[in-house]
Amino acid sequence: MTPSKAPGFPSIEDSTVFKGSPADADLSHVWHPFTQTREWRDQEPLMLVEGCGARLRDAKGRWFLDGNSSIWTNIHGHRHPRLDAALKAQIDRVAHTSFLGFSNPLAAQVCAELSALWPAGTLSRAFLSDNGSTAIEVALKMAAQFWMLSGKPERSRFVAFQGAYHGDTMGASALGGIPLFHERFANWQFPVERVSDFEALQNLCVDGIAAVVIEPLVQGANQVFVWPKGLLARVRSWCDANGVFLIADEVLTGFGRTGTLFACEQEGVVPDFVALAKGLTGGYLPLAATLTRESIFDAFTGGADRTLYYGHSYCGNPLGCALALENLAIFREENVLSQLNTLLIPAFHSALERHLAPLPEVHEIRKCGMIAGIEVRQPGGRPFEAGLRMGSRICLAARDFGLLTRPIRDTIVLMPPFCASKTDLEEMAGAVGEAIRLCAAKGDSVTQ
Ligand SMILES: *Cc1c(COP(=O)(O)O)cnc(C)c1O
Repeated sequence: MTPSKAPGFPSIEDSTVFKGSPADADLSHVWHPFTQTREWRDQEPLMLVEGCGARLRDAKGRWFLDGNSSIWTNIHGHRHPRLDAALKAQIDRVAHTSFLGFSNPLAAQVCAELSALWPAGTLSRAFLSDNGSTAIEVALKMAAQFWMLSGKPERSRFVAFQGAYHGDTMGASALGGIPLFHERFANWQFPVERVSDFEALQNLCVDGIAAVVIEPLVQGANQVFVWPKGLLARVRSWCDANGVFLIADEVLTGFGRTGTLFACEQEGVVPDFVALAKGLTGGYLPLAATLTRESIFDAFTGGADRTLYYGHSYCGNPLGCALALENLAIFREENVLSQLNTLLIPAFHSALERHLAPLPEVHEIRKCGMIAGIEVRQPGGRPFEAGLRMGSRICLAARDFGLLTRPIRDTIVLMPPFCASKTDLEEMAGAVGEAIRLCAAKGDSVTQ
């Protein structure tokens, strides 16, 4: 017998397809990430409907350059023929099967291929999950449980850096060091030792430290803060000297963003855990990997009490894994990294310097490979009044010059996909420049 339905619940058979416009649906029913609702309502939502290479088209037929690679995920461009084909081929086999107690050939191959990208015998095990936050979350649990299993349960403290961003789930955000994002949940988060630089790390009492977590080379969400050269290697040495794990968050920097496949390579560092996500599928589907050492994996082998009780319904998702394999094949076969280093990164940096450095409102251009943060201030160096929301205004204005991107406070982030042409890069930098000019002129009239 069908259970009777409580009054007030519409039945699915009688329910109707939403009849309003997509904008109505959005404004009435959607809650957007990292978005102030009041500001969102001030303008018509930009509905993206199609992509091609470095460009995206909205529902009104306008094409834009995708200036931040669709929130830092896209690597080779939209509708890449090889990625599209890999996804379609897998769709015709199966979309999802469980990774709990079963395996699938694509996921197994992804783990093997990711391991092979690190020095032999180092990061030989990979745990697949859904996104950057879960990739960090699992590294934290593995590190904490490893010390329990190794008879050192007192090693339970995590160290993270000021300005760090490691994701938004409660555990990952406990590591976060950006007050605006992280401070208000402090009461619910586990305590984390926070340091500003290498000297502060050295001054810590090492007793009870489980691991140090760092974004190698650059803190993206911290308005694109670039670490001093050599810092990562020094942190690695300090961890080695003190028997502390190093967790590298390569969620943003992985897959060529900084000019090498992984940012850690540039300082010869092999971490004990590395978190990968955003670009892993070329920016097509959510998939993440946490790589670690065989010795850490081995500690979890034994009775049920040694099991890592952690997982997600979509671990090892075959569609995501098919894309990850194709993404790696593109890197292997299409000279992506050499193109980046000989052509694209130099062209990107030069376009930024020529179009933006001369503007009086451009306070600093911070760059690391295909990542750039353009910080705007009042001419003379005083920050714009926060209430002006100059970064947001500039990014909104940039749409009229054909560019989509998003600021972090008053830093405009540019992070182009690697399929961008030299002309695209010129246009991106040019659009930011035009938008800054326009907003600075208007800003004067607001402040006067
Ligand atoms: C984006 C990001 C994360 C979080 O990844 P999600 O997929 O958004 O959960 C973690 N760390 C860094 C460095 C990131 O840039």
